Parts: sequence; C-alpha cells; structure tokens
Amino acid sequence: MPDTLMPAAFIGHGSPMNAIEENRYTDAWRDFGASVPRPRAILVISAHWYINATAVTAMRQPRTIHDFFGFPPELFAVEYPAPGDPTIAEEIVEAVKPEWVGLDSDSWGIDHGTWSVLRHAFPDADIPVIQLSINAFKPLQYHLDLAARLAPLRGQGVLIVGSGNVVHNLQMVQFALGATGFDWAHRFDDYARGLMSEQPAEILRVEDLHEFALAVPTPDHFIPLLYVAALAAEASRTCDVLVEGALAGSLTMTAYTLDAHVRLDFASPPGR
Ligand code: ZN
Repeated sequence: MPDTLMPAAFIGHGSPMNAIEENRYTDAWRDFGASVPRPRAILVISAHWYINATAVTAMRQPRTIHDFFGFPPELFAVEYPAPGDPTIAEEIVEAVKPEWVGLDSDSWGIDHGTWSVLRHAFPDADIPVIQLSINAFKPLQYHLDLAARLAPLRGQGVLIVGSGNVVHNLQMVQFALGATGFDWAHRFDDYARGLMSEQPAEILRVEDLHEFALAVPTPDHFIPLLYVAALAAEASRTCDVLVEGALAGSLTMTAYTLDAHVRLDFASPPGR
C-alpha cells in the first residue's frame, strides 16, 4: 500500500474534440499523467455524469460512452478500454459513510468528460477507472463534504480527477472569438484561481460574484472543481495552475493540480 498521498487534479476538458487533437491543454494533461506515481485506480468526477443520485461505477469492464452529437466519426470510434475495479468501488462506498453512494453495475461507464482527458494523461488505458456521479439534487456544500470524505483514498493509491470547466456557458459561446474569453469570463476564472491558489476551502465565495450566473448557468461543469478544492482544504494545501486559458468567449480551460510535480515541456502563455 503506498504511503504517500496521491496527487489530484481538476481538468478543464472543453470540447470532446480535445480527445483526438493535440494542443497546449492536452499537452499539459499528458504531462500531468506522466508526473504522478502509478495509481491503483483513477476516480473521476465528470461533469457528464450528472444525475439524480450519488453512484460509483462498479463494473469490471466499463464501456466507453460517446455522449455527444454532431462530431466526426473518428471521435465516435474512440475506445478507452480501461478496466473497472469493483473492489475499489466498494472502498469508496465505505469511505463516504454515512453518506450513501450506490454501486452502478450496468448503467454508466466511462463518459467523454473522462476519456477525452485520460486518453492523453494515461494513454495505455491500463489503470482501473471508476466514475463518481454528480448528484444534481444536492447543494454545492454537499459536494465539498463528500469530497472531504474521499480524501483518505489519496493515501491508498487512488488518483482523484475532477473533469469539467470553471466557466462553461454554451449559450453564449462565440466560436469566432477563438482563444479569447469575455471580460466577465476572465474575471470569474481569475477569482476562482485566487481561491484555489490561496484559500481553496473558501471556493464557494465565487457564488458572491455577479458573474457567477453567467459562468455557471448550470452547475454540472463547475462542481468537479469543488471536489479538488475540498481535497486541498482537507490536506491544508493549495492548488497549482496546470494550464489556463479561455475559448470562444464563455469557456475557460483552466486546470489545477494538487500535490503534483508536473514538468511542463512547453511554454504556456496565458490564453488571452
Ligand atoms: Zn463537458
């Protein structure tokens, strides 16, 4: 059993096309994966498993889910054949008690919020992958509390990854803007970065910003960040920026690591 704390990360995953493209974001994800000790398993909280219950995948061989429309055939052809691990799923159920988490043996699998990132970070797909659903019925504080209960898993070789986007407003996306963000998107992302870098326990202060409603019109892509904020707070640590930038006005790709020592092999200018 490893006696060191496994790192953790929040990844801004952006478009599903990142799964099959290479850019400075996917380069950073790859460098993160290369930097961590080999995990026993990877536990992912993906924006795309946003349901009315808290559940963990517990199948031996999770399917690759292509949960999007209107993308090219090569994206639908991607498979991420990592195994599951029912034993670790049960460890997660135990770890979060008295909160209740259901074991999902046949419903979900590995969605694109997970595989679009892991395909770069762990290209061999040989480490067991487990997903934890986001319970859409619960308040934001529930997710911070649940994440704190997951913290001991870091000492048991489990790499915890949140996959979403800090700023994610698809209704306001303007693709012509390319790698720039609206001023409000940068203000929100900057404020969140200040909290993640200095006071992750205070991450819910972002709700006080009037930009919150624009940046987080629905909470699905934001909540994965809370899991990493809470893990940092639980360890009395702060998070490091792995890569940052904005896209199409109303998306930010900012990613954070916790207790990782990533050697970036590229220059990462702020995307603005
Ligand atoms: Zn997404």
